[in-house]
Amino acid sequence: MKNIIFIAPPSAGKGTYARILSETYKIPHISMGSMLRQAAKRQDELGIYLQEAMAHAELIQDEIVYRVLKERLKEKDCKKGYILDGFPRTIAQAETYEELLKELKKELGVVFVIDIDKNTLISRVTGRRTCENCGAIYNLNIEESLPKNSSICDNCGKELIQRQDDNLETFEARYQTYLEEEKALIDFYKKKKVLYHLNGNLSKEKVLSKMEKILMEEREVK
Ligand code: AMP
Repeated sequence: MKNIIFIAPPSAGKGTYARILSETYKIPHISMGSMLRQAAKRQDELGIYLQEAMAHAELIQDEIVYRVLKERLKEKDCKKGYILDGFPRTIAQAETYEELLKELKKELGVVFVIDIDKNTLISRVTGRRTCENCGAIYNLNIEESLPKNSSICDNCGKELIQRQDDNLETFEARYQTYLEEEKALIDFYKKKKVLYHLNGNLSKEKVLSKMEKILMEEREVK
């Protein structure tokens, strides 16, 4: 399976798509945000820095992000492909990732860009609930993504939480950061001919089926 990268604004559903594709193709879903949130739980210097920066929607220092990513990509389960969610977020990260791929003898794969209206995003941000235990994601404002009980995970029965950064103010800051980097990232991958645009305003099923079609075609080309 090809490696997959997502370029999408906050709350466009990249985490959800990544999780489903990960189950379908049996390849790991590597969420940079989740790995950093995990590291932020520690009460050491790094943990405190991460908590502060993430609460203010600031991008984490590249050195930390690269270190975390490199260690993860070296793991055995990444051999047959993997899905990156939340990386690269900047052109500098995309360039460093190229070096990392060479070093680890891995291929770039495909890049999915999710295009979506800002109003749709705002409604999703305020409704999103996540399970810290199993990683499941729900949305109280999207009919097809409702949990059976608004505060409990359907999968594992643990409590659902609203992420600290899922509020309008933080969303606005994260969205602006995304817009600043989006165009350069898209140009970067367009030149490499690995880029696919998807209409994120469509239903989850439609977006997923388009992704699966692209992945099948890419497989055949290979
Ligand atoms: P996410 O779960 O992808 O929405 O990411 C949540 C937060 O983690 C972001 O607002 C950043 O503070 C941090 N983060 C995630 N991915 C990256 C990255 N590639 N580079 C820097 N910071 C990141």
